[in-house]
Amino acid sequence: MHRPRVYEKSLPELAAWVTAQGFPGYRAEQIRRWIFGKRVNDFDAMHDVPAALRKQLAEEFSLFPATEVRHQVAGDRTEKLLLELHDGEVIECVLMRETDRRTICISTQVGCAMGCVFCASGMLGLKRNLTTGEILEQVLRLDRRLGPDERITNVVVMGIGEPLANLKSLLPALESLNDKGGMGLGARRITVSTVGLPDKIRELAALDKQFNLAVSLHAPNNALRDKLVKVNHRIGIEAILDAADEYFQKTGRRITYEYVLLSGVNDGPEEARELARLLKPRIAHVNLIPMNGVAELPYVEPTAPRTDEFVRILEASGIPATVRKRKGADIDAACGQLRLKHEGPATVELSVPV
Ligand code: SAH
Repeated sequence: MHRPRVYEKSLPELAAWVTAQGFPGYRAEQIRRWIFGKRVNDFDAMHDVPAALRKQLAEEFSLFPATEVRHQVAGDRTEKLLLELHDGEVIECVLMRETDRRTICISTQVGCAMGCVFCASGMLGLKRNLTTGEILEQVLRLDRRLGPDERITNVVVMGIGEPLANLKSLLPALESLNDKGGMGLGARRITVSTVGLPDKIRELAALDKQFNLAVSLHAPNNALRDKLVKVNHRIGIEAILDAADEYFQKTGRRITYEYVLLSGVNDGPEEARELARLLKPRIAHVNLIPMNGVAELPYVEPTAPRTDEFVRILEASGIPATVRKRKGADIDAACGQLRLKHEGPATVELSVPV
C-alpha cells in the first residue's frame, strides 16, 4: 500500500485533517513550511510539530515515495532526475543553473497524446496523468539538490506531457508553488508550455494569475502544422491564436510562441515571413528551439546561418526572437529523451561517445 504524499493536500485540506486529529489548524501551516521552505526529508525532523502529530503524519502520509532510478549531472551543472512512481512508470525532471537563475523543468503526464512528430515524449503514447503530489515531488526533490544558499527562481512546465490536458492536477500544484505558505514563487516566474488547447488556455486565463504562457506553434500555417503536430487537425492555428490573445488581454503577460526548427521542414525564409505576418499584429515573442536530435527520428537542427536568417526575418518585422540555449546536452536533458531510453524497445541504444 502506498501512502498519499502529504503535500497532495492543499493548506485548507491539511488543516481539516490536522483538526480532525485533535490539533489546532495552524499546525498545517507549520508542516507545509517544513516541506516547502525548510527542505525536511522526514516527518520526525519537523521539530516544532508535536511528536504525537508527527507520528500520525508518518502513519498516514509519505513525503518522497518515488525512487530515483537515475541522477545525472551535465558538464554545465544541469541535473536530471529519472523518477520511478509506485506503478513502475518513470518521469523526468531537470534543474538548470545560470548565474542568477535556478530553473526547473517538470513533467505533468506519463507520456503524451498530442503527437508532435519530432518529440521523444509522445513516441510511446500517453500512459496516464500525474497527480498533484507527483508533480510537486519533482519540484521538492530538485529543490533539495540545491545548495543552502540556492533557491529555485523559475519553474517551466515543459517536461513530459501536455500540461493543459492535466489542469486538474497541475493547478493545485501551481497553487502550492505560488502560495506564501508554500514555495512562495511569484506567478511571473512560472511558465506553462502548451501545444495549444484553446478551452484550457481560457480556463487558465480566467484564474487571473500572472503565469507565463508559452504556445508551441512550430508552423505558420495549418497545412504544415497538421503534419508536425497531429492534434492540430482538430484545433487549427486560428483558434489557438484567439485564445492566446485573450490570455494576453486578461493577464497582460506577453505570449511566447515556441518554434522547433527542423532542417528543411519548417525553417525556410518563407516560413519565417509567414510567421512574422501571423504575429505582427500581436505583442509576442518567438522562442526558436533548434531540434534536439532523437536517435529514432529523422529530424535535425538547421545550420547556424539558416537559423540566423530565420531570426533576422522575424526581427526585421519587429518580432522579438531568441534562440534557446541548449542545456544538459550530454545527459539527454530534452523532453522525454531519457525516459525513452529507459522504456524503449531493445533497439534503442544508449549512444556512447567515441
Ligand atoms: N506539451 C507541451 C510541453 C512540451 S515540451 C508543449 O507542447 O508545449 C516543451 C517544448 O519542447 C515544446 O515546444 C516542444 O514542442 C519542444 N520539443 C519537443 N521535442 C523537441 C525536440 N526533440 N527538440 C526540440 N524541442 C522539442
